[in-house]
Amino acid sequence: MSMKETIEKGQNEYLKTYGSFPISIKSGNGCYLTDEDGKEYLDFLAGIAVNALGYNNEDLNRALKNQIDSGMLHVSNLFYNPVAVSAAEKLNKLAGSSKVFFCNSGSEANEAAIKLARKYGNKKGKNKIISFYHSFHGRTYGSITLTGQEKYQQGFEPMLPGIVYANFNDLESVEKLISDETCAIIVEPIQGEGGLIPAEKSFLKGIRKICDDKDIILIFDEVQTGIGRSGNVFCFQHYGVQPDLLTSAKALGCGVPIGALLSFEKCKDVFSPGDHATTFGGNALSTAAANVILDKLEEGSLLNHVNEVSAYLKEELIKLKDEFPKLITDVRGVGLMYGLELTVAPRDVVQGCIDNGLLIASAGYTVLRFVPPLVISKSEITKGIEIVKTVLTQFSKKSPSL
Ligand SMILES: *Cc1c(COP(=O)(O)O)cnc(C)c1O
Repeated sequence: MSMKETIEKGQNEYLKTYGSFPISIKSGNGCYLTDEDGKEYLDFLAGIAVNALGYNNEDLNRALKNQIDSGMLHVSNLFYNPVAVSAAEKLNKLAGSSKVFFCNSGSEANEAAIKLARKYGNKKGKNKIISFYHSFHGRTYGSITLTGQEKYQQGFEPMLPGIVYANFNDLESVEKLISDETCAIIVEPIQGEGGLIPAEKSFLKGIRKICDDKDIILIFDEVQTGIGRSGNVFCFQHYGVQPDLLTSAKALGCGVPIGALLSFEKCKDVFSPGDHATTFGGNALSTAAANVILDKLEEGSLLNHVNEVSAYLKEELIKLKDEFPKLITDVRGVGLMYGLELTVAPRDVVQGCIDNGLLIASAGYTVLRFVPPLVISKSEITKGIEIVKTVLTQFSKKSPSL
């Protein structure tokens, strides 16, 4: 098929859930993707913070091929399999958690977290959950209800009952919502889809204290911030604030679908057999992929690399802000998760970057998001920043006031 044919067919055959760009990707290598017409793109998006090891990674390919050759992809949770058990052991070790539940996506991990928190709370007459405005937790009913943004909920009412929203980085607004019925608080340490907004340390510490004082379960949604993205294995380690439950997905399978709910000490015995399940959870192929990235995180050099290139990315973004003070009003983030707050529509900048061979995305309504593969090199960062600079220069020429 030509790229044009693929796009036309895609438009005809798919439900219209995505406003996709008219590009069809055929192959990848390292931090580069190639479309069906042969055009190459440097990738600063990584499948939305998924492809931590980039594309065609030798170790990932070998592990997946070996798993396929073993003859076992899936066995059901009526049995154990050593691949998933090993991944669970590594997750618990890296996070300091006690128990793991495997599922297939970030939304599912959050569903599991809500169920566990309510099972814990219901015994004490508590079922209310506090989430935050501008958060993003996924698209299933539980997770869109947790998502404090009207645009995701509109037209799909009624939402799940018992969920209320506080203002992010505003401890007082959390305190106002706390009642004897509050069973859990769910928060992203850095709001991702909502616009790359890092939590303040005092805010997360304050929430932790409230949860300790009132026997409330603290859930960190680390679907986007986890698995090395922040420069630590998990972002809570960057803050030094430990949750009671943590949800992971996105980069955990480096492109193979997988999610996980990690339970720390307080919640480790809440679920009993029969309480929760998923057919594919702990699938041997997806946990084989997880083992590859978890081994690399444990070994340490991948995290060292993230921290090294993170410092460089930050410097370059600050230089960019100094060069375009009317177009860029803020640079923020940690690790390899950065945002540029723009005064022009990010989608136009994204389109310009794509035209110039750089895949990048927006976050929220005003932010250009940088979430490249964790293996990206300094020279690739330089190259991508040059493309962003080219596009911003075009903007300032078109509107000299910018
Ligand atoms: C992407 C994301 C989700 C949803 O994950 P899916 O795998 O798409 O269900 C949940 N929470 C956060 C913070 C995310 O970034």
